[in-house]
Amino acid sequence: WQNSWVIANWKMNPSTQLTVTALMTDLQQQIPTDALQRCNVVVAPSFMHLSTTQQAIQHGSCNIGLAAQNLCAQHADKGAFTGEVSGAQLKDAQVNYVLVGHSERRQYFNEDDTCLIQKIRNAFAHDLTVVFCIGETQAQYEQNQTQDVLAAQLMVVKQLAAEFANTQLGNLASRLIIAYEPVWAIGTGKIPTIQEVQNIHAFINTTLTDIDASLATTPILYGGSVKADNAAEIAQCPNVNGVLVGGASLDATSFTQIIQAFA
Ligand code: 13P
Repeated sequence: WQNSWVIANWKMNPSTQLTVTALMTDLQQQIPTDALQRCNVVVAPSFMHLSTTQQAIQHGSCNIGLAAQNLCAQHADKGAFTGEVSGAQLKDAQVNYVLVGHSERRQYFNEDDTCLIQKIRNAFAHDLTVVFCIGETQAQYEQNQTQDVLAAQLMVVKQLAAEFANTQLGNLASRLIIAYEPVWAIGTGKIPTIQEVQNIHAFINTTLTDIDASLATTPILYGGSVKADNAAEIAQCPNVNGVLVGGASLDATSFTQIIQAFA
């Protein structure tokens, strides 16, 4: 891979459009232009803030990508699915990326592999790049089950690769980013050791390559309590192609420092 990735997952934050605009203004002032040549920066606001964020990106001079945090699992571009947003609607809103499989969606919204596969299919149908999140819980980590859990979660990719084998495998390879987010590291201030991150990322890379050689270059990001003061160390890991940042992405100065660590 040529460039690194720093992706902001704002989750259900901030609570006002005004704050979104202010955050985007601060970010665009602070991120050095040359950093954006070496690092792909993407922000994932809530659905309510996609258009405000898109306008801020358009009016600014920074090349920042726009991601949604979710999309509809139904196989439909439009229709009677109250409360849902389709891949077609995201693409039309100039969204280019979408998060799928975040642990909060798996945990609080009961999203299982079948649902995640459908979401990824819908995203690919509209040329959205998928940031597919995987990670083990604290209990699984303590029981040394991390690799088994990740291998099981990556079966989603295996199934899609088989499905796309003859037609769109190139599509899969060029439109997939993996985010390894240990559930116990999200919002807790705890992170695995750098050696653990390195080993797990190597394991994910091997697992993807075993599924299909074309997936060998899939970017693998780390997520979970990434802050300005640990970003540089994480960026040193040879297998870490970037980060998915929650809490620290809501502060322009912290987020900019994280970008600089990867640029
Ligand atoms: P924190 O950076 O707040 O730990 O969140 C990580 C995350 O869930 C990003 O998707």
